[in-house]
Amino acid sequence: MSLAGKSAIITGSNSGIGLGIARELARAGANIVLNSFSDAPEDHALAASLADEFNVDARYIQADMSRGEDCRALIRKAGGCDVLVNNAGIQHVAPIERFPADMWDRIIAINLGSCFHTTAAALPGMRESGWGRVINISSAHGLTASPFKSAYVAAKHGVVGLTKTTALETAQEPITCNAICPGYVLTPLVEAQIPEQMKTHGLDRETVIREVMLERQPSREFATTEQIGETVVFLCSPAAQQITGTTISIDGGWTAL
Ligand code: NAD
Repeated sequence: MSLAGKSAIITGSNSGIGLGIARELARAGANIVLNSFSDAPEDHALAASLADEFNVDARYIQADMSRGEDCRALIRKAGGCDVLVNNAGIQHVAPIERFPADMWDRIIAINLGSCFHTTAAALPGMRESGWGRVINISSAHGLTASPFKSAYVAAKHGVVGLTKTTALETAQEPITCNAICPGYVLTPLVEAQIPEQMKTHGLDRETVIREVMLERQPSREFATTEQIGETVVFLCSPAAQQITGTTISIDGGWTAL
């Protein structure tokens, strides 16, 4: 599958799943724009290293996905895109009555609002060029709930709804919109929680992963950032032209329970 000549913007892509997606899109030959809220030399160096590794054009553009205007400016500064991957996301865990209202607003803005703003800004260019892919990174929490994650679960369910509406509005054009719903993925953020969990539960690494962290993931294995990235590349392939408005779970059977 070659994406040579296509351009992709991946929000929240200086680490974790976003970076994994950017790597697989670059491996397939797409020119990529990395993004996060920071503007550090290492962000730009990361883009340069991907450009070298995969022989594509790679740039880093700073934009804060909690601000609608920044989301739209990201698309503008990139000069539009053929593939838009809405990946930026944050989490906060607390019971509803103690959930900080400003954290609720922030999660809804970054995890859901940004998808609306970037999609609105990117669609006109996709229509003009006659091809487009919008891929929203939702979650198993876009299809099921967990206690104490009210804002995250609400935002990720919202992303699934936005995905369906975007798909219907573009259904008769060569543009598709889908959501990927990962279960637990082994990102640096998740990796960093393992030693703490081992201490808390007095268990070894393998047991903590199997019995505590992956308790809801029947495969008892993490999904990988490469698997998410390769699924994004598949959604950009001709085989996926009629796949639109749906969700693809990569969750080891979580949502089958
Ligand atoms: P991560 O923290 O490694 O990555 C999040 C990315 O978003 C980072 O690049 C971060 O810099 C960026 N980001 C955060 N706030 C931002 C802002 N205001 N503006 C721009 N960028 C911002 O986390 P991850 O695990 O890679 O998560 C990526 C996406 O995948 C999120 O939407 C998350 O909800 C979703 N997800 C993750 C898992 C998992 O197990 N890791 C499971 C399901 C869904």
